[in-house]
Amino acid sequence: MMDYDIIIIGAGPAGLSFAKLLSATKLKVLIVEKQDEKSLANPPYDGREIALTHHSYNIMSQTGMWNKIPAKSISLIKDAKVLNGNLNDPLFFDHRKSGKENLGYMISNHLIRKAAYEVVKPLKNVTLMTGVEVADVRTDDHCGEVTLKGGQKITAKLVVAADSRFSATRRMMGIPTAMRDFGRVCIVCRMALDRDHDETAYECFFYDRTMAVLPLNGRYCSVVLTIASEHADDILKMSPAAFGRDMTKRMEGQFGNMTLDTELFPYPLIGTYADRFYANRYALMGDAAVGMHPVTAHGFNFGLRGADVLAHEIQAACDLGLNFAARDVLQRYSDAHRKATWAMYMGTNTLVALYTKTTPLAKLARKSLLMLGQHLPPAKRIIMNQLTEARG
Ligand SMILES: Cc1cc2nc3c(=O)[nH]c(=O)nc-3n(C[C@H](O)[C@H](O)[C@H](O)COP(=O)(O)OP(=O)(O)OC[C@H]3O[C@@H](n4cnc5c(N)ncnc54)[C@H](O)[C@@H]3O)c2cc1C
Repeated sequence: MMDYDIIIIGAGPAGLSFAKLLSATKLKVLIVEKQDEKSLANPPYDGREIALTHHSYNIMSQTGMWNKIPAKSISLIKDAKVLNGNLNDPLFFDHRKSGKENLGYMISNHLIRKAAYEVVKPLKNVTLMTGVEVADVRTDDHCGEVTLKGGQKITAKLVVAADSRFSATRRMMGIPTAMRDFGRVCIVCRMALDRDHDETAYECFFYDRTMAVLPLNGRYCSVVLTIASEHADDILKMSPAAFGRDMTKRMEGQFGNMTLDTELFPYPLIGTYADRFYANRYALMGDAAVGMHPVTAHGFNFGLRGADVLAHEIQAACDLGLNFAARDVLQRYSDAHRKATWAMYMGTNTLVALYTKTTPLAKLARKSLLMLGQHLPPAKRIIMNQLTEARG
């Protein structure tokens, strides 16, 4: 007799969303999380403002997460401008061409995490074990066994690892993973603006850094600055006033004065992509499967998508009275999720490589790419559909 049907390792936004998406199956689920319950119930602000696609909106609505987010904390991205080297001649993405009223949404990461906790906590079929770290995972043809740091062993038919892009259990299960250390740091913060942003997102590929200025309700924005690691300290040591002046100057006064509204939060940039998203009675979820560079804002969007696909596969197997942890079920999930994510993962890495090089050839290639996007409507439409997931 097994202790649980499914053990989920990690109560990050992906693991929790997956638990909620499974609720229709009535399977007995255990989530093991090393953070304490207080930090799940009330996660601190971490500087991340997450850009969400229409597909994510649909999944979050279906799980009830969307309704848990205060309406005033949901900002719209109506349009987007991509800039190369300076603020002239942007590649413009117009929401009217997407067939939607906006390109996407912005919600703080800590509010998404809080909402995910709140929809999972009341579920009768889900047990949340917090403040405990998973030390080992093994699976065989009959079951999966998770060993906690204190030595306790727990069994289940399936183990799902949503334990971050640095997943230790992925390594234990022998799944090779491509890792790309970009040698860059992403610094995020919220800033107050003197002038309206018109709900427009700016993605600025300057020569020494990339900078995203993303619209938040009122005259606020989220700034995502990507810079070579050796220069990150220079920025982190700036006084708030100096940082504000620097941003105002770099944005050429477009928003009037820009004033720092939070501290600066640094994140080292490492992209990861697992060779496969499953092993025997084991599946990878969220960043543990695909750890994206944030420039294309797809990490959590992909996490939600994957959680939804695996939950559907499991539900379909249960409906037919089949083994939901069988290899073919997990393989179908893995194949579908790779198909949905591989091109964007590779495209993002290529874009990052191209837009951080300053050789004359790279500058020419950058310019040509933007011109292609601007003057070739089908190319622009494809990029827009990929970025907004407007077609689900
Ligand atoms: C600066 C920045 C901006 C971003 N912007 C966007 C954006 O605009 N749009 C977007 O879609 N995505 C964005 N992302 C990505 C998004 O934040 C991540 O994809 C998402 O948070 C990953 O969620 P997760 O649940 O997979 O992993 P995590 O949030 O890393 O959670 C993993 C959980 O597993 C737990 N854990 C790990 N190991 C163990 C263990 N052995 N035992 C028990 N528990 C364990 C951890 O404590 C943690 O709670 C951004 C990321 C960054 C850094």
